[in-house]
Amino acid sequence: MRLETLGIRDSCDAPVFVVQKHRATTLHYDFRLEIGGVMASWAIPKGPTLDSGVKRLAMPVPDHPLEYRHFEGVLEEQQAGAGAVMIWDTGTYTAEHEVSKGVRRDVPDRAEAEAVMRKALEDGNVKFRLHGTKLRGSFALVRTRGFGGKVSWLWIKHRDEHSQAGYDPNDYDVSAVSGRSLAEIAAGSP
Ligand code: MN
Repeated sequence: MRLETLGIRDSCDAPVFVVQKHRATTLHYDFRLEIGGVMASWAIPKGPTLDSGVKRLAMPVPDHPLEYRHFEGVLEEQQAGAGAVMIWDTGTYTAEHEVSKGVRRDVPDRAEAEAVMRKALEDGNVKFRLHGTKLRGSFALVRTRGFGGKVSWLWIKHRDEHSQAGYDPNDYDVSAVSGRSLAEIAAGSP
């Protein structure tokens, strides 16, 4: 039963993530993690960072289909979020489970990782290690209750060998898949 439900694809492939830099009404970065067949998503106004000394606001946004992680181009006027979208970073991730305060272990098994990530989403405390072209190392997304009871999340970089003080994603305006800048994508350059 377990082998059947796992399937060949699931036992071979690591789950994926994408960060889409998106100039809609305002510039932001959409961070998406594959969890349970969809891309769970957060909009990060200032973008993700490798700086373990700062926390970045991350607003939960609706799940996106898996295939959307391949989208780079311009969303038309009549679509929500009209404007240019860049695949700023993409790769696989490893789910992490917090064994005790500050002690995390990898969850390499695909089915176990999905269960861990679903529970983490519910609990508002998601931990993962990214294997991207720009983002690498261990991170957390933690749900908080801000002023007025409005739910928001915080993007946190755990301190590790990939931490970089002062890291600003806007310093790296280059697509992970096409090498284009956001302006070039907006202009439809090849
Ligand atoms: Mn967006």
